[in-house]
Amino acid sequence: MAAKIPTRLHLDEEEIPKYWYNLRSAMKEKPQPILHPGTLEPIDAAGLEAVFCQEPVKQELDETTPLIPIPEGIQDFYRAYRPSGLIRAYFLEKVLGTPAEIYYKFEGTNTSGSHKLNSAGPQAYYAKEEGLRSLTTETGAGQWGTAMAMACAFYGLDLTVFMVKVSAEQKPYRKTLIETYGAELIPSPSETTEAGKAILAQDPHTTGSLGCAISEAIERAMKTDKCRYVLGSVLNHVMLHQSIIGQEAKAALDKYGISPDIIIGCAGGGSNLGGLIAPFMGDKLAGKSQARFIAVEPISCPTFTRGRYAYDFGDTGKTTPLIKMMTLGSGFIPAGSHAGGLRYHGMNSTLSKLFVDGYIEARSERQSEVFDAAVQFMKVEGILPAPESAHAIKAAMDEALECKKTGEKKVILFGLSGTGYFDLSAFMAYNDKTLKDHVPTQEELDRGFASIPDIPQNSSMEK
Ligand SMILES: *Cc1c(COP(=O)(O)O)cnc(C)c1O
Repeated sequence: MAAKIPTRLHLDEEEIPKYWYNLRSAMKEKPQPILHPGTLEPIDAAGLEAVFCQEPVKQELDETTPLIPIPEGIQDFYRAYRPSGLIRAYFLEKVLGTPAEIYYKFEGTNTSGSHKLNSAGPQAYYAKEEGLRSLTTETGAGQWGTAMAMACAFYGLDLTVFMVKVSAEQKPYRKTLIETYGAELIPSPSETTEAGKAILAQDPHTTGSLGCAISEAIERAMKTDKCRYVLGSVLNHVMLHQSIIGQEAKAALDKYGISPDIIIGCAGGGSNLGGLIAPFMGDKLAGKSQARFIAVEPISCPTFTRGRYAYDFGDTGKTTPLIKMMTLGSGFIPAGSHAGGLRYHGMNSTLSKLFVDGYIEARSERQSEVFDAAVQFMKVEGILPAPESAHAIKAAMDEALECKKTGEKKVILFGLSGTGYFDLSAFMAYNDKTLKDHVPTQEELDRGFASIPDIPQNSSMEK
């Protein structure tokens, strides 16, 4: 038996994995294809390339290649802030008095503050390689916009970020950071696009929404020469890039002969969870592991736990291709919460399929309890977690406490997707005891479900 496991499970720079892992390659039953919203036929590369960059489109449609090489130019980018830490939570185990071993993979050490840089880098790299001059995107809470601004500065591309107006006003430091990295930031809705003008004409005082910002960003990309649109979650190529998280975690754990029994992540669109679990789920699908996988979402936006498995649009404007996924309906508007990155109606199609087939468990949590867990964690482990990431902390602590009851010495791995330095207003509300927990009524959910398109593929929809 090896000596005591160190607090930091070290990987040398040259041990950073050189391949992304394509989880779909291990699935006997693949997720359903993406459909063109007009023809309702599976969309091909040409259809997606109107909006997205070529190489990411190829990755999006590839469901058979297990290991996809990370180009040198992206490996260089990753080396600036990777490997990310894999930490044994000795102090948390001690305060919980649990026999379980708890490990977390911390993605918050880069300036953007989250895992999103892992896909922003590749998406900017591929855009530059194919000769594009600029990119557009949207950002809600600001993490993705910051990550893209960093990546575009690094690879030498112009970037326009449509930031949901209320976020731009509430998070002036995020806005400043994005602009300092050189991106153009436009609060959305704006007068710069037809989509924005139409929404402003209806409601001049609207605070904006992610759905509207997406429509504006896509419109700008379509109308600009040598420009494409990039998305920071949900799609399979984004999850592929995020598999660097799981690849590193597995490489470090393997060095010490550790294999996790329970793997936990927070789920917004599914990219950090999917990236973390990818190689471990591959082992499970191959019959080599009995690990359990747990997705954690806010009770206010219960995509897995109360959603439906159906073809749906990615945006409120109903302009994107249709994805078969767990969804609350593109018209579902989640109550305001401090976990902005988890306020999305849909879920990555691969994770949705694995959930429906019983390979992933899901639970939803109240933000008041999530913040209790966050504060307990930060007091002993020292790291200020993002509110999104704190959902995973809560579930990891619950599982560790379960082990305390049963006396089982399970190995728990969770994803700590980011830091909370830009979320201090959320901690302010926690300290002032003004955090609210909204549990959507069935009526509210039904209103969202009513926005799911009524197409033949949805007629046998699981209710
Ligand atoms: C965006 C974000 C999430 C949610 O996005 P996923 O695609 O589900 O990973 C989670 N945590 C942090 C810190 C984020 O910024």
